[in-house]
Amino acid sequence: MDQIDACDVKGINESLRAWARPGEFIRPIAIEQVVVADDALDALVDVVWQMAAGGKVLLVCDHTPMRRGSDDLKPLVFDRLSRRGSVQLRHVPVQPGRCHAKLEAAQELCSELGAYAVVVSVGSGTVTDITKYARHLFVEANPSSRLRFVSFPTAASVTAFTSALAVLSVDGVKRTLSSRAPDAVICDLRTIASAPAIMSQAGFGDVLARSVAYGDYYLAHVVGMDDDFSVLPGRLLAQAEQEMLDRADDVAKATLPGVRSVTEAVLLAGMAMSIVNQTAPISGWEHVISHFFDMTAKYDGREQALHGGQVGVATLLAARAYERAWNALDLNRIAADVPADASRAWRRRVESTFGKYDPAGKLMAEIWRDYDKKMTRWAQSGEARRRFVDRKRAGELDAFIAANVRTSRAVEDYLARAGAPRTFDTLDEPIPHETAHAAVQFSHLIRARFTLGDLLDQGGWLNPDRAAALLGA
Ligand SMILES: [Zn+2]
Repeated sequence: MDQIDACDVKGINESLRAWARPGEFIRPIAIEQVVVADDALDALVDVVWQMAAGGKVLLVCDHTPMRRGSDDLKPLVFDRLSRRGSVQLRHVPVQPGRCHAKLEAAQELCSELGAYAVVVSVGSGTVTDITKYARHLFVEANPSSRLRFVSFPTAASVTAFTSALAVLSVDGVKRTLSSRAPDAVICDLRTIASAPAIMSQAGFGDVLARSVAYGDYYLAHVVGMDDDFSVLPGRLLAQAEQEMLDRADDVAKATLPGVRSVTEAVLLAGMAMSIVNQTAPISGWEHVISHFFDMTAKYDGREQALHGGQVGVATLLAARAYERAWNALDLNRIAADVPADASRAWRRRVESTFGKYDPAGKLMAEIWRDYDKKMTRWAQSGEARRRFVDRKRAGELDAFIAANVRTSRAVEDYLARAGAPRTFDTLDEPIPHETAHAAVQFSHLIRARFTLGDLLDQGGWLNPDRAAALLGA
């Protein structure tokens, strides 16, 4: 495995250039500075004021009280930054990890950014994504702007911090939007280790998703549903991912080495997605299942569970599905031509599945737009599908899946050692069995991305009994 230092952006870009196949286009990492240190507060102050170049600084956070050891974190950061110049504090109305960032919050923040040279987010994934997207919108509207963005993560809970993508809720559906990476990411491990252990466990689950998502990413390409595929995101992340898994017992206890290993892994995971400008290498069916839970939370009358917690459990389900279905797919079905009037049946299926969650039909329009796009491509990809089936029958795809998809036993063991949930009903906000069952059967209907869920469905494997068996181990 290649030795990669998450803080050495220049070295990472050199490695990527060296690894790329001739003609393969890889986006270089555009982040100027990545710092991971036990105490990174001085580094934060230096980086922010250097970037501000005499201008003003806006500090964005939410209302959640946070500690850094025995200190109150936000006043501490505000005080340290304020000693060097003018800092304004702006609260965004979110509970980190629970209610996902809404597009409107980013738009509102964007309208206030004109007065500042640097915007700093102090928070976990939600605050980071709102700030990241607000800054992106601002630069889109003001191309000559030199507004800089510094991310100070308060928990290693998601892979979002270094990515050029922002996950925001648009009309109630979680969407991944093209955005801009931060100019600097400053990780203060004392802060991150002071967050509840469940936050690092969530980051652990979010990175663990690569264990199945990389298979989905590959299969989508081979079956003709995604033009792009690269081995480089996996290669970039491999060593940090393994280091994090080896540290699972430390993650459970939120020790500094445990938290450091998750932090470095989530930073590299974000970069791994950015270099191919899509989340697919680390976000497959397991993420779609998680999105289904977020989407239906209001309907169930429950709070959203932590993203990475949901994703970790869904990773275990997907690993089981790979084992059980890989050699049981109906390949003739996958190769078959799609009837010309199939679109009507797809739409009826989406309506009958999601009607109860969305009487107003707003969500349905979003879901249908994505699913229609996916299935239209499926109908057109007959030639690629038949090639896929030939290669599958010849056993040519087995080696990649074996090398890139972890066994359910390994996934379950890592989750257990990290102290992370292994069933949906033991999440911080438990998911009712009926919702979990519906997610396994229908979540693939909500997104344009082709994942294992689609292959199980198209291959005639996914049915209510098998969905229940995936949930029940
Ligand atoms: Zn994720």
